[in-house]
Amino acid sequence: MSAAAPLLQVEGLKKHFPLKHGLFGGEVVAIRAVDGVDLTIAPGETLCLVGESGSGKSTVGKLVLRLTEPTAGTIRLEGVDITHLGPDAMRPYRRRAQMVFQDPYASLNPRMTAGKIVSEPLENYPDIGASARKERVAALFEQVGLRPDAMQRFPFEFSGGQRQRLGIARALALNPALIVADEPVSALDVSVQAQVLNLMMDLQEELGLAYLFISHDLGVVEHIGHHVAVMYLGRIVEYATKDALFENPRHPYSQALLAAAPLPDPRAKRERVVLQGDIPSPINPPTGCAFHTRCPKAFDRCKVETPQLVPTADGRLASCHLVE
Ligand code: SF4
Repeated sequence: MSAAAPLLQVEGLKKHFPLKHGLFGGEVVAIRAVDGVDLTIAPGETLCLVGESGSGKSTVGKLVLRLTEPTAGTIRLEGVDITHLGPDAMRPYRRRAQMVFQDPYASLNPRMTAGKIVSEPLENYPDIGASARKERVAALFEQVGLRPDAMQRFPFEFSGGQRQRLGIARALALNPALIVADEPVSALDVSVQAQVLNLMMDLQEELGLAYLFISHDLGVVEHIGHHVAVMYLGRIVEYATKDALFENPRHPYSQALLAAAPLPDPRAKRERVVLQGDIPSPINPPTGCAFHTRCPKAFDRCKVETPQLVPTADGRLASCHLVE
């Protein structure tokens, strides 16, 4: 999807969770959390994955990092197929792709000092000696805007924003090329959100980092994104540059998300589409276009025929019978 040689390339990615169902749990059905996702991220690029809760975006993040095993599809990192690599073969690639979590407090060990938290990923790699480790941790604290004396403190002594800086320092420890950030600022106050987003953008420029940035908050996405993939019920329904999507969303679901977002600069051209009801269950997704049960533009064909994600005349991808 991006012009530069891809850092991450995902094709046909699926994750179906089996669920025991029915009387006495005898029947097994599949929760189709991710149901055929293709993604490409170039070095230094931020791809935002957006959608409501239950769209499958966090599961995509975990699949990309091999924190959960895919049901189908391939994941290539720096040109190498890592989809089925065992723990030993996966080690070098674990260094290259790291995660920043939503809740920095829950993701930091409360009994470890901040210095130890940041140094821990380095300890798994014996080629990095003790003195190199110490120097690296000091450099990382400086890089994320934490004072050196913060190394001796424990997570509870930090503010939310500082804890997220600590989470970012830990993710950077092994020089990754890609960071998967799952709602990294949604637990923070708005003023602190901007500081953390600016830090992430500065680090991107300095280090050439790519981000897979997962968020339900379109204000945040507008700030940080280069490209945006909109997910609905385990599939991407629109993929576009950030500017194209915000100026003129083509898929009715993207239009509804943007219409509902409290963005500071409402675009005159934006169509008003009001999203009603909840996202349907991924156990039994609607036939045809999965969005037809909530789409104000749905017509007969939508109930029976699944639209494919295809290129549009204005250079994006969308899966809607109205924009083919
Ligand atoms: Fe709406 Fe039909 Fe387009 Fe689906 S295919 S988004 S139901 S108009």
